[in-house]
Amino acid sequence: CGIVGVLGTHEAAPILVEALKRLEYRGYDSAGIATVNGGRLDRRRAVGKLVNLSDRLVHDPLPGKAGIGHTRWATHGEPNEKNAHPHRSGPVAVVHNGIIENFRDLRARLAAQGHYPETDTDTEAVAMLARHHLESGLTPVAAARATLAQLEGAFALAFLFDGEEDLMIAARKGSPLAIGHGDGEMYLGSDAIALAPMTDRITYLEEGDWAVITRAGAQIFDAQNRQTSREMRQIRMDA
Ligand code: GLU
Repeated sequence: CGIVGVLGTHEAAPILVEALKRLEYRGYDSAGIATVNGGRLDRRRAVGKLVNLSDRLVHDPLPGKAGIGHTRWATHGEPNEKNAHPHRSGPVAVVHNGIIENFRDLRARLAAQGHYPETDTDTEAVAMLARHHLESGLTPVAAARATLAQLEGAFALAFLFDGEEDLMIAARKGSPLAIGHGDGEMYLGSDAIALAPMTDRITYLEEGDWAVITRAGAQIFDAQNRQTSREMRQIRMDA
């Protein structure tokens, strides 16, 4: 129900949790974050309030300066830890708002190739597809692009990859996403309000857009995969 992301110069976990808190008004049943640290992708998740995730992080910290986070409002699969985002398949982690309408077809196709889901969510199919594309030799950007082309439904998505500490991919189709510009840092949020403590320089993705984000900035592509530019605005947030 809420997505956040950071490619930063400080530890990502506290930034992600703070940003998720600012999205609490949207409601959620579980929460989680993933980071890449020393090239390694890892995640922590917890059912219930964000404080449960924060408590988990005290006992089992998640280092790393690149990360994505999520608050979930379950649509497919019970609200339990297994079904909480980020979803991971091998070298890919994904957070998702919305519904992947064709996830059953995607699952069936993956199963025919010997790949079976471990969760009850629609989202996991996205991570599994991206993994499949990576394993067939595509770069992370090409794998995300190929995955997005296979998805039906209304969603916002963010991808993070093993071995990639300066890359986050975001996509918007039916659910808003805002990119935040910092100084040598970049952010992502379902709502600009999540990013208010970090930056007021915001680029909203338009319907069908997807973005390749690094600390140097964001390259934005439209639904036809043409590179495009979207206005960066300075927005005032009273919060
Ligand atoms: N459909 C996904 C799930 O049930 C995402 C729900 C959401 O938007 O939080 O896990």
